[in-house]
Amino acid sequence: MQLTFLGTRGEIPLCSYEHRRHSALLIETGNARIMIDCGTDWLDALDPIAPDVILLTHAHADHAAGLAQGAPCPVYATQETISRLSRFPVNDWRLLEHRHAVKLGKARFEAFPLQHSINAPAVGFRVSEAGQHVFYSPTSLPSAIRRMRSSASPSISATAPPRNAPCCASAAPC
Ligand SMILES: [Zn+2]
Repeated sequence: MQLTFLGTRGEIPLCSYEHRRHSALLIETGNARIMIDCGTDWLDALDPIAPDVILLTHAHADHAAGLAQGAPCPVYATQETISRLSRFPVNDWRLLEHRHAVKLGKARFEAFPLQHSINAPAVGFRVSEAGQHVFYSPTSLPSAIRRMRSSASPSISATAPPRNAPCCASAAPC
């Protein structure tokens, strides 16, 4: 399983090489390319990523509005998130149930509810493959989840995009 942090910033006006583009994680597992979250920065920027599947943690714009014009692949989300994004022309919504694992590629993705927003209820994902685990959260974590995260495998590799990769969708200097 290969993790690439495509974006690491939240809903803040500026970005830098330390934090650029709205939070998004690409997980390559088997032959599958799984993207978690797709904020406004990713509108019209998905072609090079070519995700096979997108998973959303919640409906806030910095995590989901990159799909405002639709999606090139199936999109997994909870019913709470799908309902809040029903105006988006996504052709293939797939329902995620809390704590019910979905196998994508060689990995299993399990959604855990997190405290984040009443208006946009969020989940984090425990991703498991071959006895290794990683936990992805779009928000700060309660202690129970932190304990689970601390048991995540340290051997999963993670990378960031090249430093000369475009920083913002607008290509404006950062
Ligand atoms: Zn949020």
